[in-house]
Amino acid sequence: ASSHTAKPGWLKRKLPDAPEYEQVCSLIRKGGLHTVCQEAKCPNQFECFSKKTATFMIMGSKCTRNCRFCNIETGPDEMPDPQEPFKIAEAVEKMELHYVVITSVTRDDLPDGGAGYFARTISEIRKRIPEALIEVLIPDFQGDYEALKTVLDAKPNVLNHNIETVPGLYKIVRPQAVYKQSLELIKRVKEYSPDIPAKSGLMLGLGETDEQIYQTLEDLFNCGCSMLTMGQYLQPSKQHLCVKRFVRPEEFDSWKKTALKIGFAEVASGPFVRSSYHAKDMYNKKQ
Ligand code: SF4
Ligand code: SF4
Repeated sequence: ASSHTAKPGWLKRKLPDAPEYEQVCSLIRKGGLHTVCQEAKCPNQFECFSKKTATFMIMGSKCTRNCRFCNIETGPDEMPDPQEPFKIAEAVEKMELHYVVITSVTRDDLPDGGAGYFARTISEIRKRIPEALIEVLIPDFQGDYEALKTVLDAKPNVLNHNIETVPGLYKIVRPQAVYKQSLELIKRVKEYSPDIPAKSGLMLGLGETDEQIYQTLEDLFNCGCSMLTMGQYLQPSKQHLCVKRFVRPEEFDSWKKTALKIGFAEVASGPFVRSSYHAKDMYNKKQ
């Protein structure tokens, strides 16, 4: 790696190898389930699993889109497993999770973009573990309002949709997505379900300017987004976009202050922050 892409000291973290961790891994493997935690080799796994939080990815592990920052394979070649909502509910129970994040690859090939699978997964988890808190991290459903309503009707505790980056970088970072459409989705969450908090997040280090970041935060807030995450973009492989810069921890702190000043109720901002990082704490504080 060239010197500007070598990881600075504050980004080095070891992956866990405790027996509890192994147990969780085998549970997930046996169910044929996918977690973002493991598949994205997230550096926070140990912390999150020990806090009884995990992020499941539903509807397979291949995506219809090809975002330049994401390590998910392009596909998908099969229909989602109809048993998956039950299997996830079972895993949540066995892992004794308190806070579950449900996300998916983007399934532009399904008529409702997979909204029905989100709704069924929420209700199966609720049936087994009524006290579990559930956050969904959803794709844009190509602007399909009915699909969004299907998910909201299942009453997740938090509705998360990542804006990912500033609009000026969409063409190179998220070529198949539309900035305004993602903002509109957040606005609609607040119109249809004012009591479900809307959450969003972005990655820094892709070449965005401070002005662009500020404008994006204002746009999100003006659409009713109340919970925000900001983290460092890391290049998953050489085929992915290069890291333009490593944002210093102090700068993440200063963005947190700025976001709170704009009016966000809860903000997580730091080099390791992912959209599901400290999700339970963020939710609890907001209540
Ligand atoms: Fe999993 Fe999210 Fe925690 Fe990473 S931050 S380990 S993806 S729950
Ligand atoms: Fe990855 Fe989501 Fe983009 Fe698919 S839509 S490539 S899962 S970021």
